[in-house]
Amino acid sequence: MTALIQELNRLAPQLALREHEPMSRHTTFRIGGPARLMALPASQMEAAAAVRAARALGIAPFFLGNGSDLLVSDRGFDGFIIKTTGLDQTREVNRRLRAESGIPLARLAMAALGRGHTGLEFAHGIPGTLGGGVTMNAGAYGGELVQVLTSVTFLNEEAEVITLPVEECALTYRHSLFTDHPEWLILGAEFELAQGDPAAIKDKMDELAQKRRSKQPLDLPSAGSTFKRPAGYFAAALIEQCGLKGVGIGGAQVSEKHAGFVVNRGGATADDVRRLMDLIQDTVHRETGVTLEPEVKFLGF
Ligand SMILES: Cc1cc2nc3c(=O)[nH]c(=O)nc-3n(C[C@H](O)[C@H](O)[C@H](O)COP(=O)(O)OP(=O)(O)OC[C@H]3O[C@@H](n4cnc5c(N)ncnc54)[C@H](O)[C@@H]3O)c2cc1C
Repeated sequence: MTALIQELNRLAPQLALREHEPMSRHTTFRIGGPARLMALPASQMEAAAAVRAARALGIAPFFLGNGSDLLVSDRGFDGFIIKTTGLDQTREVNRRLRAESGIPLARLAMAALGRGHTGLEFAHGIPGTLGGGVTMNAGAYGGELVQVLTSVTFLNEEAEVITLPVEECALTYRHSLFTDHPEWLILGAEFELAQGDPAAIKDKMDELAQKRRSKQPLDLPSAGSTFKRPAGYFAAALIEQCGLKGVGIGGAQVSEKHAGFVVNRGGATADDVRRLMDLIQDTVHRETGVTLEPEVKFLGF
C-alpha cells in the first residue's frame, strides 16, 4: 500500500485518503472492520486517477457507494476502497437529467422533482447512491432504475470511459452488467423523465415514505432486504412462515417488524449476521424447499 499511496499522492495530490478506516462508519449495517486504504475522490478526474494508480500496481479497487447493500467482515478489508459519494453533481443536457454516480438516490429524486420531472419517486426512499442503484437495478413499489435510465457511463478495466445505452447494461431484478464486472467504476448515468406536476410528485414521495415507515424497521441499522425475492414467493413471508421472525444470533436479529430484514439491534458483528443468514437459508430450504439467495453483497470474507 505504501507504493499505492505514493502513486496516488503523485497523480492526485488533493485526493483524500484514509488508512485503517473502520467500515462500520461506511455501512448502513454499522458493521465492519477496517479498510486498509480508502480514497474519497471529489471529482471524476480524481476517481479516474485513483483507479489508474491502483491498476498500474496490479491492485483491484473495491467501489463503495453508501454501503447500504453491504456486509463487511469483522476483520475488515485488506485492500483499496474508492468511495464515490464525492461524485454528486447533476445537470440537464438536451432535456435529459445527468447525474454522477455518488449522488444519493434521495437527492437525485429531489433534483428531478425540482425540475418537475416524474419517474424517480420510487427511488426517493432507497438509501443508496446512483452507482449502487445502477449496479443492483434498485427498485421499489413497482419502479426500477431500468425504467428511467437511458445510458450509463463507466470506467472499464483499461481505465477507458465508456457510455452504454441502458439496453446493453443487462439490468434485471437486482442484477446488471456491473454486478458481473465489479472491476468497472460507474461514473454517472442519464435519465429520460416525463414532465409532471410537482405537487403530485411530492405527494407520491410522501405516500411511499409513509408506506416504508409503516412496514420497515427504519429505526435499526440494516442493509434492507437481506435476500432476493425468489421466483413465485416473497422472502419475508417464507421466513415468517418458518417461525424465524424475531430470532437472533448475538446482536443480529430477524426484524420483528419485517422478516425480510436482518437488523443490527446493537453490537452485531458480521459473523452474527452471516450465521443468522445461514440459519435462515437452511431453515427455509428445509421447511419449504425454496433457496434464498442473498441480496446483500459481502466484502472481506
Ligand atoms: C433501510 C433500507 C431500505 C432499502 N430499500 C431498498 C429498496 O426499496 N429497493 C432496493 O433496490 N434496495 C433497497 N435497499 C438496498 C440498497 O439501498 C440498494 O441496493 C442501493 O442501490 C445500494 O446502493 P449503495 O450506494 O449503498 O451501494 P453499496 O452498498 O455501497 O454497494 C453495493 C454494490 O454496488 C457496487 N457499487 C456501488 N457504487 C458503485 C459504482 N459507482 N461503480 C461500480 N460499482 C458500484 C458495490 O461495489 C457493491 O457491489 C435498502 C437498504 C436499506 C438499508
